[in-house]
Amino acid sequence: MTVTLDMTRENANAPPPQAVAGASARASLVGLGRGELAERLTQLGVPQRQLRMRASQLWRWLYGRGVSDFAEMTDVAKGLRADLSQAFDIARPEIVTEQVSVDGTRKWLIRLPAHGGQAPADVEAVYIPEHDRGTLCVSSQVGCTLTCTFCHTGTQRLVRNLTAGEILAQVLIARDRLGDWPGGTRPTDAPVPDAQRAVSNIVMMGMGEPLYNFDQVKQALLIAADGEGLSVSKRRITLSTSGVVPMIPRTGAEIGVMLAISLHAVRDELRDELVPLNKKYPIAELMDACRSYPGLSNARRITFEYVMLKGVNDTAAEARDLVRLLKGIPAKINLIPFNPWPGSGYECSDWETIETFAEIVNRAGYASPVRTPRGRDIMAACGQLKSASERVPAWKLRQGADQSVGEPVG
Ligand code: SAH
Ligand code: SF4
Repeated sequence: MTVTLDMTRENANAPPPQAVAGASARASLVGLGRGELAERLTQLGVPQRQLRMRASQLWRWLYGRGVSDFAEMTDVAKGLRADLSQAFDIARPEIVTEQVSVDGTRKWLIRLPAHGGQAPADVEAVYIPEHDRGTLCVSSQVGCTLTCTFCHTGTQRLVRNLTAGEILAQVLIARDRLGDWPGGTRPTDAPVPDAQRAVSNIVMMGMGEPLYNFDQVKQALLIAADGEGLSVSKRRITLSTSGVVPMIPRTGAEIGVMLAISLHAVRDELRDELVPLNKKYPIAELMDACRSYPGLSNARRITFEYVMLKGVNDTAAEARDLVRLLKGIPAKINLIPFNPWPGSGYECSDWETIETFAEIVNRAGYASPVRTPRGRDIMAACGQLKSASERVPAWKLRQGADQSVGEPVG
């Protein structure tokens, strides 16, 4: 099959992105919870007895209907709308590029303006349409403090954590661009059912380690899951971690979304190399945290991601060890063909090797879909997300990787 590169079709099939609020000094309301919205309304002099109702109206316009201009909030009094737009901002961040792959995958490069001492930064989000779902892959940080050797993001220094608003903005932009908001003119219109939405699922699998930006990720995901807003069911939201063990119980208790673990190796010695965080939180501790994750059942399993690296972690013996390791944990296994990037030093396992590995895992009762790489022509695949800023050669980072296991920031 001939692959047609479609990389330069910025903003294909749709009107140009809307005006940019980059230069605005007004604080954004996007990413605020109900209580915080009420607080901002108090600042504008909204009387106490109206607060709940007004905050609820704002909530539904922002997250249920996705408006990005106060003028669209037709059931909010004109005077209040004017006050709101003077004091606050709800515009989207700038879409720098929108790339559309031949397979329908879309990738957005989003420019987050500077605010509150945070530098401006570019971040990527990817949309992957499939026959029964549409998955949005969302970033939690610009860059990453961790240095997993096979990951392109790992070669980029951490620039900064994203705020809840910036994490949510990726979802709002995807919904805008895919025409995925409920129709009609009133915010009380019923939400579109999951299966009919373009963005039915969210995965925190873009740039960054979500559990090193816990508070903002939590706030964003709780807003995304709220039934009066974006209304994405928690069962359709998956948070992927490289194994920040102490934060796994809090993820279950406080966020309650589905969990994915980037495992990639079944022995500590090899995992120490591939996922250096393993030196801090070895496999046995990680498995204990998984076993205790709340709400697990056959219908609610933990996904274990395993990147297939030729001659590194792909033997039949390792497949059998993987099965043994996961015994007793309701699990799904995702075998990810390695997505090469220039200078990575790894190759993807041969197809036959992947099939043999998958067969062993399947025979043990695990459905183990091999994740087909999507959007390869637009570098949208796992581990390839990387903004244009702050490029550091992989070899340079690896030299220092032993010392820097990575720490939470912010
Ligand atoms: N930091 C989190 C989430 C982002 S990475 C984590 O590590 O889980 C999302 C997934 O892509 C992880 O499983 C990661 O290991 C995988 N990945 C990274 N680079 C990759 C590459 N080059 N090819 C295939 N998968 C990769
Ligand atoms: Fe960071 Fe995840 Fe990449 Fe590791 S795989 S460097 S944790 S983004």
